[in-house]
Amino acid sequence: MYRPISLCNVAYKTITKVIANRLQFILPHLVGPHQISFVPGRHITENIVIAQEVVHSMRRKTGSTGFLAIKVDLENAYDRLSWEFISDILREARIPSDLIQVIMACITSATMRVFWNGEATEEFSPSRGIRQGCPLSPYLFILCIERLSHGIHNVITARKWHPIMLSRNGIPLSHLFFTDDLLLFTEANVEQAKVISAVLADFCDCSDAKINANKTMLYFSKNMRDTDITEFWVFSASRVSSSMFQNIVDKVEKRLSGWNASHLSLAGRITLAQSVLQAIPIYVMQTVSLPNGVRERIDRACMRFIWSGSSPQQKLSMSLGDGKSVSFWRDLWATNNAPLITYATTTFPMDILDCKVADFVNVNGSWCWSRFEHYLPSNIILKIAAFHPPSYAKGMDAIFWAHSKHGQFTTSSAYLALSDQIPAAVDRDWRMIWSWQGPQSVRIFLWQTFHASLKTKAELVRRHLPISSRCDRCGAVCEDVIHALRDCPLVKQFLLNIIPISKRHGFF
Ligand SMILES: [Zn+2]
Repeated sequence: MYRPISLCNVAYKTITKVIANRLQFILPHLVGPHQISFVPGRHITENIVIAQEVVHSMRRKTGSTGFLAIKVDLENAYDRLSWEFISDILREARIPSDLIQVIMACITSATMRVFWNGEATEEFSPSRGIRQGCPLSPYLFILCIERLSHGIHNVITARKWHPIMLSRNGIPLSHLFFTDDLLLFTEANVEQAKVISAVLADFCDCSDAKINANKTMLYFSKNMRDTDITEFWVFSASRVSSSMFQNIVDKVEKRLSGWNASHLSLAGRITLAQSVLQAIPIYVMQTVSLPNGVRERIDRACMRFIWSGSSPQQKLSMSLGDGKSVSFWRDLWATNNAPLITYATTTFPMDILDCKVADFVNVNGSWCWSRFEHYLPSNIILKIAAFHPPSYAKGMDAIFWAHSKHGQFTTSSAYLALSDQIPAAVDRDWRMIWSWQGPQSVRIFLWQTFHASLKTKAELVRRHLPISSRCDRCGAVCEDVIHALRDCPLVKQFLLNIIPISKRHGFF
């Protein structure tokens, strides 16, 4: 499956934004109260609270009439929308015809290319759908989905659809829309199910929308007997437990695994963690408060991503036996901190990437150096030389915990291993850096300076890189942080130019 990415240029965005601003103005008059997304003056939490109330009262329902809530999921809602349907809807909303022409020209002028194996294929034009990222799309979508609302309204007026009543003389409630997530409420019986599926089928017919049956869920009221009750966590009105929030944690972890942390800079990883990852729970936190356990798990996932980007199983080391199950490049066996692939000094052929350790041993049982030594630095080669090559006689490979001496997992060793990576950001100085309002990259730079982890020559030597610690600019013996940023003559000259005399005391 491909994920469409919209590239809209400035002119396109300007024009569509102007139109969108005007649409926004008339939207409250065109869209019924059941749809809240993107309509000025309405907020998504309103519908969530109503939905929670409905489920709460469904849990307490007594009497002979059972009720049913259906959460309908529209598959790729934006991408499937029929153009003909959109122009139809715009005419029905009495948008001036020349404006309709402009809007339709915007939607239909898109071209697409498939990015396949790193190359773009030939251009082609889509025949339906609206673009993600186009300012008009949400408004068009909401206007289209309003047609479904009308359909529902018609069958209710004809007394075919029996909506739920929350109290004896309360307002009947038939549906709530969250952009493309639809919630429908009805009496739970076969006739009602038929009415609803007819309404939905009608809408799908004219709009080209498709209902995703796998993601569509049903929820029955308490007084229903013999039913499959599928609960969906957002609407839980009972006590909230950690397990219900598994979804959120999963989502955060899924977002993380989609990025290769080692390809991002530290500043990039932090920005990503802050914006993308934390946006997920914030959405839920508007209506329910997250339990501590969940918050901690999200924090931990972010920390892990920021500080190493490595997955937790890298804390498991492999002990060599016959070498047939240990991956030479990807498993942790020769060093304690990272798999060999992270030490590779040059790119190497993909076909040796999946090799097992046993694949690098020749017939007489010694290391086959020529096959890997030119891809790894000499200190790592020495480490490999310290290992006896795997052999049948040693039995099968085994897994052990890399952070304790005896190889068995203990909580304290795990804590130590983790706390090694997590900074104690409690100091006043740290707080000053992190609360500083400015570019993330500068903040990271300051933080690394404080932490003395800037990659100065002295630091690189400390990390056993085969270089001299001498300063490249002035030839001083040791280029540490203070030298690189303050004491090197060239730097000092520059600083003297920008720091006023009154502030120099105490700086140098
Ligand atoms: Zn220097």
